[in-house]
Amino acid sequence: MIPSVLPTYNRAPLAFVEGDGTWLTTEDGTRYLDLGAGIAVNALGHANPALVQAITDQAARLWHVSNLYEIPNQQALADLLVDKTFADTVFFTNSGTEACELAVKMARKYWHDKDRPDRTDILTFSGSFHGRSSAGIAAAGSEKMTKGFGPLLPGFIHLGWGDHDALYAAINDKVAAILIEPVQGEGGIVPLPDQCLKGLRDLCDEHGILLILDEVQCGMGRTGRLFAHEWAGVTPDIMMVAKGIGGGFPLGAVLATEDAASGMTAGTHGSTYGGNPLGCAVGLAVTRIVSDPDFLDEVNRKAGLLRQRLEGLVAAHPDVFDQVRGAGLMLGLVCKVPNTDVVAAGYAQHVLTVPAAENTVRVLPPLTITEDEIAEAVARLDAAATAVAQDAAA
Ligand SMILES: *Cc1c(COP(=O)(O)O)cnc(C)c1O
Repeated sequence: MIPSVLPTYNRAPLAFVEGDGTWLTTEDGTRYLDLGAGIAVNALGHANPALVQAITDQAARLWHVSNLYEIPNQQALADLLVDKTFADTVFFTNSGTEACELAVKMARKYWHDKDRPDRTDILTFSGSFHGRSSAGIAAAGSEKMTKGFGPLLPGFIHLGWGDHDALYAAINDKVAAILIEPVQGEGGIVPLPDQCLKGLRDLCDEHGILLILDEVQCGMGRTGRLFAHEWAGVTPDIMMVAKGIGGGFPLGAVLATEDAASGMTAGTHGSTYGGNPLGCAVGLAVTRIVSDPDFLDEVNRKAGLLRQRLEGLVAAHPDVFDQVRGAGLMLGLVCKVPNTDVVAAGYAQHVLTVPAAENTVRVLPPLTITEDEIAEAVARLDAAATAVAQDAAA
């Protein structure tokens, strides 16, 4: 008999009833150190007082009105994002994959309105993830996500990650946009080198192609800059944001330059919930904190510490781990044993991590993790690795 919850997830047998900062607690009072942060969502930890205050105040006043009316804190959040980024304009969604939908529509509408309706192709890369909507799975293109769900949305050209020859060969006058994650998340914490992002920008400029960055997972301070592309010193035309921006409240956004967004006039796109007062009250509180340079300095300091400790962990367990990679507090432990064994051993040590592709374990703690918690987390991962190594030897 089918479960009452559609069985599309492989869940761990853990149910948390309370959270506080970097900690989650089960019904029986057991505390777990959370290095997953709801898959890079709880950027400011659980039950952050500033966010609790923001949502409580807004909840007592007004939850939702629809985009039939002006929404002052949607306006304020858009203004803040425009102020802090390359963007001239913002559209709010409820999720990352909805941001992907709009990014794709925006790129195609751009060329349509420039009298180039034939320019519809979007280049994407192996290992990428853009969510589970029809555009999202067609964009990523992996068999795992697309099999059985055809016919797929056409117009995506899938290229090998790092295959420069294939990239140059794919450039022609039908290409509307290039879509890429500056650090692949689900793909196994794979950073795009800065010089490659610069190269993509140059290639796009040379051919008039729009550059779309998916910063749903790597954005909002995760890598130590407000957005990961800032490390490379280049900017996109369109950017997808979600996960961290709501701190746990479902919120996403598409940021764009005035030129890239020029086709998106009244009536061309919409969302009932997107950017509602409740979501934007939280998004505004999160973005104010995360975009503060002092906050980002702290993220970088703690990221350095965590990275150093994880390098030590890898060195101490050469049979379990291959390497650490990633940026900021978006780190991946590439495993030599099945990554799911490492995650499960972590559960036994009451530390939560998230598996990803390429046999990787993701370490994505709240950006507010403390130094003591980093030390405790790595001690628990060390115990987990010891247990995995013993099991492998047995
Ligand atoms: C999670 C994720 C998405 C999809 O976001 P949802 O909110 O699950 O729809 C898209 N792109 C990237 C890079 C992601 O990590």
